[in-house]
Amino acid sequence: MVKPLLLVYCALDPSLRMSKKYRVGILGATGTVGQRFAQLLEDHPQFEITAMAASDRSVGKPYSEACAWKLPGKIPTNVRDIVVQPIEPPLDCDVVFSSLPGSVARETEEAFARAGYPVISNSSVYRMDEDVPLLIPEINADHLGLIEKQRQNRGFAKGFIVTNPNCAVVSFAPPLAALHRKFGVESAIVTTLQAISGAGYPGVASLDITDNVFPYIAGEEPKVEIEAQKILGIFTENGIEKADFAVSAQCFRVNVVDGHMVSVRVNLKNTATLEEVVDAMKTFPTLGLHSSPATFIEVTDEPSRPQTRLDRDNGNGMTITVGRVFPDNIFDYRFISLSHNTVRGAAGCAVLNAELLIAKNLI
Ligand code: NAP
Repeated sequence: MVKPLLLVYCALDPSLRMSKKYRVGILGATGTVGQRFAQLLEDHPQFEITAMAASDRSVGKPYSEACAWKLPGKIPTNVRDIVVQPIEPPLDCDVVFSSLPGSVARETEEAFARAGYPVISNSSVYRMDEDVPLLIPEINADHLGLIEKQRQNRGFAKGFIVTNPNCAVVSFAPPLAALHRKFGVESAIVTTLQAISGAGYPGVASLDITDNVFPYIAGEEPKVEIEAQKILGIFTENGIEKADFAVSAQCFRVNVVDGHMVSVRVNLKNTATLEEVVDAMKTFPTLGLHSSPATFIEVTDEPSRPQTRLDRDNGNGMTITVGRVFPDNIFDYRFISLSHNTVRGAAGCAVLNAELLIAKNLI
């Protein structure tokens, strides 16, 4: 338990705030993303997991019993004995990470924000709300300015909701952001090849995905077509002015466990040479936060990369790997981008968001 006196010192001294351990509660802790949170937070210098919540199926059981652990290695010892609670406030924590299905996320996340908790959500339900930040911290940290408006709009005294994007959007929005900042993006066609773990557990039936490519992911294409424009939008006093390019998307489920690959074709507003395009991506700055990768966008010129199995773990799963960048016969340029869907596309991005919120004195 953090002593009130320590909180006062923390408010006065930012270095103390950065070294303080915040108590974390995870909603949907037993699921695919919840397990990734448990793994990523095992030795985190700023966070310790003190509460876990899931469905009635799991409530009352120790985490090790409630959870069908699917990640390599054992369940982290610090969470094994935490008893799973219902997804209702109060929970014994300072900040809440949510990896709940959309069907329960809207009501539950609002209840936690109203009860005073910062809620960092993986769910899609609040992403496009005008007063909710949709964050990739390297791209649009300034969108955190929406929190004040959100508190006014919704009557949250202390809590708030911050979201991270759809896991396929996380793969292509960074290279698109690099191009948009330098040359302006006019339009893009994206074809996503999404991993099985993106559907959660047990997710896709093995008979549907073994020896197969599945050309439909319910509700995915509309999300992939609109989220990047908000992320790349400009923060103004009146909200986010969305970027004005169009995205056309086709989304496929493919037979890999982790890692979303995206094939992108893009038209630019201003002309750019191939070298300038590659340079814009390579030089896009990373942040100096604990979970920041050394390189945000890695561009490879090896003809057969990126490959999902070989490159999804780059930068501990937090780097976006881009390859096969070429001029296109119809569009201006084409490239492939890849990211780890449960790390950069979910739990890792949420943890980075929380680190950013601490650095900005918002937690
Ligand atoms: P999942 O594996 O199906 O896990 C769902 C979690 O939510 C489990 O802990 C489950 O608890 C809990 N839950 C389900 N129904 C509930 C209810 N009615 N009340 C309380 N808890 C309930 O799903 P996931 O892949 O982790 O995805 C979680 C969220 O993250 C979704 O909104 C998804 O769209 C989003 N997301 C996922 C990914 C990804 O790559 N998987 C990436 C980005 C965003 P029990 O175990 O007790 O049933």
